[in-house]
Amino acid sequence: MSLLEHLNAKLDAISAQSLKRSLRRADTGTAPRQTINGRELLMFCSNDYLGLAAEPAIAEALAEGARRWGGGSGASPLVSGHSAAHEAVADTLAAWFAPHIPQARAIGFCTGYMANLAVVTALGDEHTEIFSEQLNHASLIDAARLARARITRYAHADVTGLRTLLAASTAKIKLIVTDAVFSMDGDLAPLPGLLALAEEFDAWLIVDDAHGFGVLGEKGRGSLEHLGLSSERLILVGTLGKAAGLAGAFVAAHATIVDYLLQAARNFIFSTASPPAVEHALLTSFALIDGPVGAARRANLVARQAQLRNGLMALINRHPHLGWALTDAATPIQPLIVGGNAEVMALAAALEHAGLRVPGIRPPTVAAGTARLRITLCGTHTEADVDALLIALERAAASQERAA
Ligand code: PMP
Repeated sequence: MSLLEHLNAKLDAISAQSLKRSLRRADTGTAPRQTINGRELLMFCSNDYLGLAAEPAIAEALAEGARRWGGGSGASPLVSGHSAAHEAVADTLAAWFAPHIPQARAIGFCTGYMANLAVVTALGDEHTEIFSEQLNHASLIDAARLARARITRYAHADVTGLRTLLAASTAKIKLIVTDAVFSMDGDLAPLPGLLALAEEFDAWLIVDDAHGFGVLGEKGRGSLEHLGLSSERLILVGTLGKAAGLAGAFVAAHATIVDYLLQAARNFIFSTASPPAVEHALLTSFALIDGPVGAARRANLVARQAQLRNGLMALINRHPHLGWALTDAATPIQPLIVGGNAEVMALAAALEHAGLRVPGIRPPTVAAGTARLRITLCGTHTEADVDALLIALERAAASQERAA
């Protein structure tokens, strides 16, 4: 069989299950509005939670950074790619997390996927057991597979189950690895309980706060601030392509851990550093997150979240036969569980017809039978924007019910 025949058979099987993915080209726009084929769509799908990608100050800082530093960094960080802008970003993050992680130091990466890969593969050696939460992001799952450690999975948010597993472990080093905010469900990991287990069993807690950084906590520092956590056992991963509105990621941890990553994280050592202009602009993004703009956007997010959640609950109650449901989401990620793959794609198409972009998420990203609309809010969504989504969903629900 030729490779192409082999792949075409696989592609046909994917299509038959309504699971075929394809790229959509946006012509212009930043969250929450995008133009596709000449039509402006109101988006409920971006992870640009504070709407910072659209801030003129960020575009200006990028331009200023490019004038000062040029285009790319030209080399990996340990060769010549580490600029003063990279260092200023890492220093700011270390200061931000010092109240939560004693002796904190930070190290930058080009993406969150890379940061997760680095921390889990570098720390997960043959002496280590990784305790991995069931709903962890794909990058953490892939990282654990690449590590030389033993992997033990624990059930979603199951602190008691994890306790039993930790108590039975004989590994020299134990790493608990979890998302802080689950990307497809919007709920929070039970971090205080996990940290208490880490203290009790001499384990370390790797927290991927991709969806909490910038969003949660009074100053937007994320889940650790939101929950008031502090421990040298915390190893924090944050992404800078979501609420920070740019690109990149970081690990903040005890200085010894960061020093070791610098020696051992192969994907850090053997990969070109991010463009210094992006790092320069991140300093502007941090000032916005830290200042009145960030505070106002976070307050608006909380208000829109309540409006959306109340509206979705009322919608579900009006149409119980559709079997739609909410998750325990406590963040700007507010999914609507629909169930079937074809149903969710039909719903997403109906919303798009009404001028709204809301992605249908299907297996294997989520469990079979739990296909969903992943609705995400942006700090610049207005009350009228959320109403528009709720009205369009009501129309779609009524027509699905008539069709059933
Ligand atoms: N962790 C989580 C929980 C994520 O949702 C994502 C991105 N979707 C990542 C890590 C990867 O971050 P990045 O997009 O910066 O690679």
